[in-house]
Amino acid sequence: MQKTVLALGGDGIGPEILEQGLRVAHHLAERSGITLSVHHDLLHGASWDAHGTFCTKQVLEQARVSDAVLVGAVGGPKWDNIRVPGGAENQDGLMYLRHHLQTYLGLRPARAWAPLMAQTPFRTGLADKADVLILREMCGGAMFASERGQRIANGLRQGYDLTAYDEAEVARFAHGGFQLARARRGRLVSCDKSNVMESYKLWRAVVTEVAQDYPDVAFENMFADNCAYQLMRRPEDFDVVIGCNQLGDILSDLTAVYAGSLGMLPSACLAANPAEGPVFGMYESTAGSAPDIAGRGIANPVGTILSVGMMFHYSFGLPEIAAQLEPAIEAVLTTGILTPDLGGTATSAEMTDAILERLDA
Ligand code: NAD
Ligand code: MN
Repeated sequence: MQKTVLALGGDGIGPEILEQGLRVAHHLAERSGITLSVHHDLLHGASWDAHGTFCTKQVLEQARVSDAVLVGAVGGPKWDNIRVPGGAENQDGLMYLRHHLQTYLGLRPARAWAPLMAQTPFRTGLADKADVLILREMCGGAMFASERGQRIANGLRQGYDLTAYDEAEVARFAHGGFQLARARRGRLVSCDKSNVMESYKLWRAVVTEVAQDYPDVAFENMFADNCAYQLMRRPEDFDVVIGCNQLGDILSDLTAVYAGSLGMLPSACLAANPAEGPVFGMYESTAGSAPDIAGRGIANPVGTILSVGMMFHYSFGLPEIAAQLEPAIEAVLTTGILTPDLGGTATSAEMTDAILERLDA
């Protein structure tokens, strides 16, 4: 079986963690009889510096003919305030790809790791079994506002981003959430701020309608502020949590606290409901480009490595290959081979070496 992957290192630690992720991808490909064809290109800041655009048409076209896109991370102070006319898709290379490839279903799993519990602020017994899937809508909402800008209103500078979702955008996303909940522990919380905002009133109405199709999934609506509070207060009660683009972004960094470091969290952005078989997806660590530690070879590679696992699961249709990763990573964490964010001194390459050795053991 031949699989084509577009590899986009991006900025900051992006190329460093992508390199480690690709080592694991080649290893897993070999053991599953896959011939992996990897094309490298630039994204976001690196693309801006080379081409004056955050994502070239060539990258988009290569993504369209690939089975999956593997991304390092993007962004950095050098590019964060560059203004380009148009929507969010013109301001950010990743958002350009999400928009044009319609990878609307963002999976951000966060779990507790026994060897790392001492790294977390949780007292023993509170979050030891935390295992949550935050689902973030990736293609709409305030972050993709078409009505956006800065203007003078009543003599004052005003910034605005129109939050809008239509029912089709919410419904396709909610169906993905309920299907994924079915494949897990059968529980789903949808979070919104429908107590104050119209866009969320529609969100809640549509998700509640979709829930009727899934009587086997225990479903609850929750206000997002309370949801954030409950996620920290009683982590083990949650299974799947779905939210709009902005809430999903924030809640996924919040649940990284279970894992002991933001660098532990993978993500997948899927272009279709994975219940129907392998789908196109973009895979990247949930975290950003960590400019504070870039260039030193010490970034935690696990988020990217687990993202590679999600690529094998959702885009290559090989969940059993993906499932080999977590036990290997847990064994390495137990031996104390840890990057500095986890309290250790290992480099990204040393931690990846140890994971590859474990996979072979
Ligand atoms: P960040 O996620 O890059 O970093 C937050 C903190 O987590 C930092 O202390 C960082 O050192 C640490 N961290 C993140 N990943 C790590 C890893 N793999 N190993 C060890 N430590 C890690 O967030 P930020 O500093 O707010 O943003 C930096 C840039 O990243 C900004 O330009 C932002 O726009 C961009 N960003 C990109 C993505 C993405 O590529 N998907 C996501 C979020 C932010
Ligand atoms: Mn984020």
